[in-house]
Amino acid sequence: MDYFLLYSNCVLVKGAHRATLCDLQKGAVYFIPKPLADLFLEDQAVDLVQLREKTEGDMVLFLMEIIDSLVENQLGFYTNQQEWKRFPALNKEWLFPAHISHCILDTATGRLDYFTESFVEQLSKLCCNFVQLRFFGIPPIEHLENILRLITGSQIKSVEILMPWNTAYESGCTYGKWINDYKKISSLVCWGAPSTCVVKEGARAMGYLLYTSEQINAATHCGIIDQGMFSTNITTYTESLNFNSCLNRKISIDIQGDVKNCPSMKESYGNIGDTTLVEAIGKPGFKKYWNITKDQVSICKDCEFRHVCTDCRAYLEDPGDVYSKPLKCGYDPYICEWAEWSTHPLKQKGINFYGLEKPAF
Ligand code: SF4
Ligand code: SF4
Repeated sequence: MDYFLLYSNCVLVKGAHRATLCDLQKGAVYFIPKPLADLFLEDQAVDLVQLREKTEGDMVLFLMEIIDSLVENQLGFYTNQQEWKRFPALNKEWLFPAHISHCILDTATGRLDYFTESFVEQLSKLCCNFVQLRFFGIPPIEHLENILRLITGSQIKSVEILMPWNTAYESGCTYGKWINDYKKISSLVCWGAPSTCVVKEGARAMGYLLYTSEQINAATHCGIIDQGMFSTNITTYTESLNFNSCLNRKISIDIQGDVKNCPSMKESYGNIGDTTLVEAIGKPGFKKYWNITKDQVSICKDCEFRHVCTDCRAYLEDPGDVYSKPLKCGYDPYICEWAEWSTHPLKQKGINFYGLEKPAF
């Protein structure tokens, strides 16, 4: 066998200093040293004869040991020259049967009074299946249960809820009751809680109840890039190759009722009091961020995590450059190190621009 070939669900992503091998089926990420990544043909196969010819001394043994470990971890297999071209590569198209996939709704008061049957119909027209409700004030029980009932009877597949932790709701077991009664809740995050923990995992990987001591009391808390939020799967990978990995097919309504790409952005496409979601999407400029891929963003285009990482176009390292790296990412792909973004000297211009100097509480 003179070739090593990756399984088609395993993809190589080259960075400036190293590469990642992402197993999109198992959701795992492995690191590959640059000398081996550079030997991959069409990012799929390694010619082992060439590897031995082009590589010097102990490096051959080192690279062959890595390839053996890739085979052991079921990321690829040994084959020959005639065979490897017969294995089809992964289809890299991203197809999604919806005009809008995600909708974020923010409220400072705990109320979303526009969330009525006719609003659910608007979401239905767009085939929007995922909704995130971000409460920066405590929602009255009746009001939230009304919304959850509307969601239950709709095409919406899942809802993620963020809300302030509340002693009365805690002692009344309200959070657990919601998780049990409303099966479309994928996660309920109570922020400002006394401690941080996951209490319960519901059936079919839905219904997480999470407590966090963090204060998520404004849209400015969004946009943090963290390894714990990486998403290694075919949908994220193919979407990030073709579209923006945060804003593509997303719509939001901020605390003022303004319809936007994301609540943290300035551009408004009308107010939900006098504009429909369909009208907002049809306005010039609404889709302008949808096609900005990570391969076009400065620094990210050299990062080996770019196809498992989410993007952020609302908070930029250089606010004047729409292709600038996300402000709230502390990773440097040129030295492969993570650092705290908020204290980084090069981030201070962006931090001042967006008024993020102090926590928003
Ligand atoms: S663009 Fe940034 S702030 Fe807006 S939703 Fe995406 S990650 Fe959050
Ligand atoms: S540099 Fe940061 S934001 Fe850019 S792809 Fe890498 S981890 Fe993601």
